[in-house]
Amino acid sequence: MRLTVLGTSASYAGPGQACAGHLVESGGTRVLLDCGNGVLANLSAVIDPLTLDAVFVTHEHPDHFLDLYALQALLRYAPEGPADPLPLCVPRGLFDDMGCLLSDRGNAELRAAFTVHDMLDGETTAVGDLLVTPHKTEHTGDSFALGVTDGSATLCYTSDTTLGEAVLEAATGCDLLLAEATLPEAYRGVAPHLTAAEAGELARAAGAGRLVLTHAWPTNDRDRMAAEAAAAFGAPVSVACEYDTYEVVPASEDERETRS
Ligand SMILES: [Zn+2]
Ligand SMILES: [Zn+2]
Repeated sequence: MRLTVLGTSASYAGPGQACAGHLVESGGTRVLLDCGNGVLANLSAVIDPLTLDAVFVTHEHPDHFLDLYALQALLRYAPEGPADPLPLCVPRGLFDDMGCLLSDRGNAELRAAFTVHDMLDGETTAVGDLLVTPHKTEHTGDSFALGVTDGSATLCYTSDTTLGEAVLEAATGCDLLLAEATLPEAYRGVAPHLTAAEAGELARAAGAGRLVLTHAWPTNDRDRMAAEAAAAFGAPVSVACEYDTYEVVPASEDERETRS
């Protein structure tokens, strides 16, 4: 299973970046986890977006779904004619809210582009070679971390969350933890997000094999993020950049035990 990072910015994107978006591939299966502003351009640099099998949007904040508007146009105006509706899994109510910004015609076009499924806590969706399981977390309204497995290894993407039992349960035992790390230490606690050190604490408590940080403000010091997270995790930590790829493989017991 391969993870390709498409967008690492929280809230707003820096130069050459995009907001939340991560591609997961296994065999011929391709799923997109979040579709924030700028993600579609970066996705197009990596694969033909028409080959996506499904999109999962974790919560209602714009930095996680805005490029769905762009994606529906790409699907509708595909070179060979309108594409088949793309499966889209979203928290209940988000898709209706998206339609409120559009004319009746635009709303109808949006609905024609996707087959919408409600994202429900603990309810696994099978997409080709992948199983995707949402875990409700504490951030805003309905927000979900996503567990993704190909049957061999497991990725946990925290999306946006505070530190707590909910996200710990979602992350426990994962081979690669892709964790948000929005807040510099000076902002700890001011918004429902993690600091880099908290992401490290989470990874350690969860027994994660590896930790990759994403979803940071463009102004954050990424070297400092890596150092603070590594000190808490007890092992080196990566800070994701756009187009980075990670092979998600089963973590060895040695990797987990050295940090327990
Ligand atoms: Zn966000
Ligand atoms: Zn959010």
